[in-house]
Amino acid sequence: MHHIFQRHCHSELPIAVKGEGVYIYDQTGKSYLDASGGAAVSCLGHSHPVVRAALHQQIDQLAYAHTGFFNTEKAIELSEKLTHAAPGDLNHVYFLTGGSEAVESALKLARQYFVEKGELQRSQFISRKQSYHGNTLGALAVGGNELRRKPFAPLLMPTEHISACFAYHGKDASESAFDYGQRMANELETRLLEVGPETVIAFIAEPVVGATAGAVTAEEGYFKRIREICDQYGILLILDEVMCGMGRTGTLFAHEQEDIQADIVTIAKGLGAGYQPIGAMIASSEIHNTISQGSGFFQHGHTYMGHATAIAGALAVINAFEQEALLPRVQQAGEILQNRLSECFKNHPFVGDVRGRGLFRALEIVADRDSKKPFSACSKLDSQIKAKAMELGLICYPMSGTIDGKNGHHVLLAPPFIISDAQ
Ligand code: PLP
Repeated sequence: MHHIFQRHCHSELPIAVKGEGVYIYDQTGKSYLDASGGAAVSCLGHSHPVVRAALHQQIDQLAYAHTGFFNTEKAIELSEKLTHAAPGDLNHVYFLTGGSEAVESALKLARQYFVEKGELQRSQFISRKQSYHGNTLGALAVGGNELRRKPFAPLLMPTEHISACFAYHGKDASESAFDYGQRMANELETRLLEVGPETVIAFIAEPVVGATAGAVTAEEGYFKRIREICDQYGILLILDEVMCGMGRTGTLFAHEQEDIQADIVTIAKGLGAGYQPIGAMIASSEIHNTISQGSGFFQHGHTYMGHATAIAGALAVINAFEQEALLPRVQQAGEILQNRLSECFKNHPFVGDVRGRGLFRALEIVADRDSKKPFSACSKLDSQIKAKAMELGLICYPMSGTIDGKNGHHVLLAPPFIISDAQ
């Protein structure tokens, strides 16, 4: 008996005592291959020597200085690296402590941008049904996971949800992938015209959907059309790369592969690689300059934002990507993983799809492969898969998501970038 308030109140969890490379060890000495990096976090594996050294050094020097009083050299350096790599004029990084904070900050920044411009009537967001943006109230409101939203529904700000680009479930056999992508993107235009584009602040989406649908990539041209619509109707585009960003799909930012520019991007998870809690929001010069030349003050902040030790860890993580040439490796290892999974599960009666990009892959679990019918919402499938995998010494990330109002199941795999072909 212990006094930890566990999220799953009744699960008996092993005690983790050590991590090394792609493995976590429990107190009995049992090893677990961390094939999902927890929740797509540990992209460098465990106990990376360079990150450990950077953290030691920073704590010895200065663990924390409030960002209202000081900047640090490392924060400046990390902001330079991120903005240099980010497409377009995403030139201003706001450091936070995690993904939900980054999304909350992005939503508030987008609203404040229009307040500064005198467009006070803009008060709602549009997002997608198959999406997860975090568990705080603003992030939950724009997210699409009905199970997670339900108990808190009366507390959530009104948000319009459209379909995601999810070909496995939505594409008609008669239409091309491109046409399907355009049809899905045009849902944004239709909804904007229904609600009045002048009332909308931004559209928010994950470039590759993670937790709520399982490594779902958009069809080519989808995000270009989304960008076009946002520009045409004067709303902002927020891309949530908390899960799919930071090299997970083979490029530092996942939306580099969509050839578009965002107004705000959120990142977390792989940025700290699990060594420290850290997230960030990166804003365009247009947004930053509007606020800096307007009120000069962003009405939002958190005590631990821009934490000096977390920044030092994240800088070491980004440097390791470069020094160990890990992003090309993600693309190569991702292909191997996709091929092996497709081969292994090609005749499995309950695996309907194997998909993803880079080292961000998922199996969709269905009750029937032909009809793609999901298992029932109360099947407890995710906890059963998780328990069985852990028994076998594997950490993967089984989740339920929403498909056309029904619950669907998938298993996410997001292994560390250092994983070997054999592992
Ligand atoms: N956005 C996306 C796309 C996520 O996948 C997550 C977490 O899974 C979040 C936001 C929330 O991040 P956090 O759990 O760090 O608050």
